[in-house]
Amino acid sequence: MRYPRELDLWRYAPGRSLAHVAVQTTSAGQCMANLGKSLSKIHANVISASMLPAGTAGEVSWSLFLDITGTGQTVKAMRERFLALPGVTAVSVAASEDGLVVHSQRFPLQLGGRRAVIIKADALNDMLDRLTEVFGSGAAVIVDQMGEAMGRSAARYVLKELGKKFSSDHLEALIGTYGSLGYAAVELEPGKSVDLHVVLHAKELFECEANAGRRVRRRSVFFRAHVRGFVTGVLGLEAEVEEVQCIAEGADECAFRIALKEDAVASVLVEAVSRRRDSQSTF
Ligand SMILES: [Zn+2]
Repeated sequence: MRYPRELDLWRYAPGRSLAHVAVQTTSAGQCMANLGKSLSKIHANVISASMLPAGTAGEVSWSLFLDITGTGQTVKAMRERFLALPGVTAVSVAASEDGLVVHSQRFPLQLGGRRAVIIKADALNDMLDRLTEVFGSGAAVIVDQMGEAMGRSAARYVLKELGKKFSSDHLEALIGTYGSLGYAAVELEPGKSVDLHVVLHAKELFECEANAGRRVRRRSVFFRAHVRGFVTGVLGLEAEVEEVQCIAEGADECAFRIALKEDAVASVLVEAVSRRRDSQSTF
């Protein structure tokens, strides 16, 4: 499904009264049913709702942006109303009369259980551009090292959580997380020859999409290095990643060939052995 996964940070609706409600509960389904009834009673309009795992084991938190225009609801009244629902352990409410309300569960933000900060793709591209302006061609080395370090850090986390064997066996699925994280729509194609291990197709890669419309058309540096660091870290074998086609140069999508350095060495040895056999068989 290609539907934007928006992070609900805040809502703005001029002239409306808005609220953000977070309800922590031990019973996800029952709580949603009760919340629905309660919201319908006060005639609040639900703009968006999502369920998140809460910090405490077994608990979840329902997060709702509401339009409460004309309902006469106050923060205090809503808090008391939702806190009285069965199974509810905590409630936070933020409301505004002037049409702007911010998500009341603000900090910390976690991705996969780790503290996270989210950088918008255009802000990250601006950072990469500034590096190029200041350091010229040397920027590629800096960006490459940044990408590699981030990829290796992601690999360390995966190894810690899933273990070496499971991570290696599920590398393809794990590479899919580049899509979940918003880098690009990714797909892996198994290699068709000895030196071509796998090809990673990346549609709408943030880094190259920004370069596609520019005078200086650069191929990917950051993402390529990130994948290299991640694959190398997970497998514990040096990987090489080469971008074989790029949207910055007019292709429909970017594609990266991922090969293991050890494999290249191994294939050379296999070839050498088979050549030797061939040469022996002639005698
Ligand atoms: Zn590209």
